[in-house]
Amino acid sequence: MRVRPTARMRHNSHPDAHLCGRFPLAAQALAHCMWVSPHLQSGTKLKIRASPPRMRRSLFSDQTQRTIPAMATPHKNLLPRKPRRARAQRPRSARFAPIVDAEDVPSVSFTPEEIDRTLFPVIDRFLAGMSAPRVARAVTELTGVRMKRTDPYKLLAFARACGLVWVSPPRHYVLEGEFARMRNQGEVSVIDVPGERSPPNVPGAAAVRVYELIGQIAARRPGPVHIGLGIGNTTRRFAAALAARHRADRKAPELVLHALSPPHSLADPLETPLAFFPLFGGGFSRVQCVNLPAEVLVRCEDYDRLQRLPLVDEAFARAAEIDIAVTSLASSHDEHGYLRNYLTLVDPGLIDALMAAGWRGDAQLRPYGDNGPFPDQRGLRAVTLFDLPQLVEMAKQPDKHVFVLTSRCGRCAASKASALLPLLREPSLRIWNHLFIDFDTANEVVTSLDAQS
Ligand SMILES: [Zn+2]
Repeated sequence: MRVRPTARMRHNSHPDAHLCGRFPLAAQALAHCMWVSPHLQSGTKLKIRASPPRMRRSLFSDQTQRTIPAMATPHKNLLPRKPRRARAQRPRSARFAPIVDAEDVPSVSFTPEEIDRTLFPVIDRFLAGMSAPRVARAVTELTGVRMKRTDPYKLLAFARACGLVWVSPPRHYVLEGEFARMRNQGEVSVIDVPGERSPPNVPGAAAVRVYELIGQIAARRPGPVHIGLGIGNTTRRFAAALAARHRADRKAPELVLHALSPPHSLADPLETPLAFFPLFGGGFSRVQCVNLPAEVLVRCEDYDRLQRLPLVDEAFARAAEIDIAVTSLASSHDEHGYLRNYLTLVDPGLIDALMAAGWRGDAQLRPYGDNGPFPDQRGLRAVTLFDLPQLVEMAKQPDKHVFVLTSRCGRCAASKASALLPLLREPSLRIWNHLFIDFDTANEVVTSLDAQS
């Protein structure tokens, strides 16, 4: 971009600018400076050659020679762009707060008070079969809140995000029967919703079952029920669904939430157990939380010392109180697995060593193969409240529950069937007594087992 001659501009003569289209942003900035420059007085003529002509038109209103109007009303294209308005804060209802991912919450253009007044009458009528336009008209008349014909859809999605509406997914009993034939001595639930990329239904269905167990445990003995939460996207969705039930229950049993893994600094901080705790706030919830304030990966020789550190020692000491532990799996091939992510940064060579040893997957960032848990390699290990053998022991106890949730990767939809197979075949990896699987993974596992037998 060349401007010439600048001296003439200062002398209120006919400046002559040549703007090259290769730098449109710079040209725009220059054009703006010309309009507001204190050196250019009212009446200054500006002669501009611009290439391509399109730029001249867009910046200077299609005039090659025009008069500066005393900095009064520059062409709209010359004004500095208004900063794009930050996305409007989604209104939060006073009574109903979404407990799932922000991207799952539909944008509704009502105030919190309007949501409180309209949410139930809208859902009630909509689920009774009334068309959305009729619902909108009826609720507008009833509450005085003006509704568009599409608002009932949005409010229905909002209610689902708040946990007020729960659609119970079907179970695939034939596939469940196939798992029962394997004499796994555990409860296997196959959620029959094929083709889901990022399924909320597996963790949602698991939350329903866990809440049943919470009620049974609370009825059997005094004191709070202790829940251990692992890391990851699936566990986060589980925690959100469980929190929705707990918050809405007038007689909600008191819970103690235990983090099974430390807060991770490299992974998505919203997918760590510490981030799940606030989901349980509000409503009728009564919760206490036990964090695991430790590093993610440590040297093996430091592990005993770490377990004795203040606060960390409390987390480990209270691990035995946990009634229900909930975790999920990562496949060794999935680039979104946390263990693979950490090792890529810390020790990429270890990934090759694990793969060479037959790495299938990891639970609680502890890797395993077809024949059992892997021993620690190259002096590095993940911090977790329970190692795999401890989960196996816990799953054997009749009054303890270990839930393993398996659905496709929430980011790339990669299958976790290869990570699940060893958990079904190898006794030293029987880390579960409740297994929740999505249809596609279950189908793949049963087909693979059939082929091998
Ligand atoms: Zn993935």
